Amino acid sequence: MYDCVIIGQSYIGTLTAISLHKAFPHLKLCIIDKHIPNTIQDHRATALSQSSIDLMDSLSLWENDLKNAASPIQEIHIGMNTDKAPLMLKQPNTPLGYNIANSALRPTLEKKLSESTNVDYCHGHAINTITIATTHATVTLDNGTQIQGRLIIGADGRHSKVREILSSTRVIDYHQTALTGTLHHEISHHHRAFEFFIPQGALAFIPLKDPHTSTFVWSLKNTLLPSQETSIERLLSALAHDYLGTLRHITPVGQYPLKAFMANQRAGHRWVLLGDAANAIHPVAGQGMNLAIRDITTLIRHLSTQFNIGLDLGSHTHLARYAQSRQADRYSLLGVTHAAAGWFTTPHRPTRSILNKGMHLFHTHSFFSHLAINSASFGIQG
Ligand SMILES: Cc1cc2nc3c(=O)[nH]c(=O)nc-3n(C[C@H](O)[C@H](O)[C@H](O)COP(=O)(O)OP(=O)(O)OC[C@H]3O[C@@H](n4cnc5c(N)ncnc54)[C@H](O)[C@@H]3O)c2cc1C
Repeated sequence: MYDCVIIGQSYIGTLTAISLHKAFPHLKLCIIDKHIPNTIQDHRATALSQSSIDLMDSLSLWENDLKNAASPIQEIHIGMNTDKAPLMLKQPNTPLGYNIANSALRPTLEKKLSESTNVDYCHGHAINTITIATTHATVTLDNGTQIQGRLIIGADGRHSKVREILSSTRVIDYHQTALTGTLHHEISHHHRAFEFFIPQGALAFIPLKDPHTSTFVWSLKNTLLPSQETSIERLLSALAHDYLGTLRHITPVGQYPLKAFMANQRAGHRWVLLGDAANAIHPVAGQGMNLAIRDITTLIRHLSTQFNIGLDLGSHTHLARYAQSRQADRYSLLGVTHAAAGWFTTPHRPTRSILNKGMHLFHTHSFFSHLAINSASFGIQG
């Protein structure tokens, strides 16, 4: 019998296991994944906010590891058109966040996990069923193996089987696809990120460690997706020429169909959902993983309180309290990303003009920009 069984060994499952091991070194953990984790290729990058960096730092992952592979984001320039960006966010002396290639993030997390003792692994088998009893839960894999734990953590991504078995899901289809990849550009990024809400869809360039490389994420309406023969390089070069000069691809262009998945219930007796399994949001604000990392920080705090007074880690009452405490952050982010993904890319000219004026106002009143920076960095506490 394990103290905790984590399903999904990607970013969030791995970080949860490292965090649990640090907080409770004597707990016996098991991690299940249907894939062999170090065989997965991911050409995306992740913009990490301050709350995520704080967790990485507390796990000794930041100063000598991830920070060296990341680019600080010193400024974010936001506009309704690519020819001008009226809103510029920055703060004195501190970057707004850091952007890191997932190809650097994943191996660093895996290496740290491999240093943790008391962890067993079960790779190459998907979970089929979960049964909940009073004292424990039993996970059955597709080869019939049964694994028992006092607490089950579902970190199995946006198409979560754990969520399908134990909860229900609200799905929002944006009818958009994110095109993403890494670009080499002629002009240095100077640690600036750009976000343009053009009528085709939100387009972001986020700086990487090398001053001449950035990742892009372009959330395009499905009806406007370029044909296979179209050169995305040329399209992007035309749009971002004034800021980055001529662009050239470094990685293949990845495609991610965009839907939000929200679990109606995120915790119950002996189980909790984390990461995209709990809430998969639109990537327009680059906040999905940051939201999940704040979930981990709060969950560990709740588990520690429970553990220190000798109570059951899998009890429904304390897990429900944890889930309740995270409601404000998750709903506010869902709202913000929903608005940005829809309204801001409207082709309706009068609305675009109002939004443009709004950006000017936002820019000139530091109260609003401080509020935006603070909630993006630390989330909304419930
Ligand atoms: C284009 C794009 C850009 C993004 N940019 C950012 C950003 O800049 N900043 C940010 O904070 N977030 C960003 N995000 C969001 C972020 O990438 C996700 O929130 C994050 O990857 C979720 O990680 P996860 O560990 O929850 O899920 P996943 O990475 O999907 O992992 C799920 C794991 O579960 C395993 N699994 C699945 N089903 C089973 C099963 N039945 N049995 C056993 N194992 C199973 C899988 O093999 C996998 O290893 C972006 C998302 C997209 C699409």
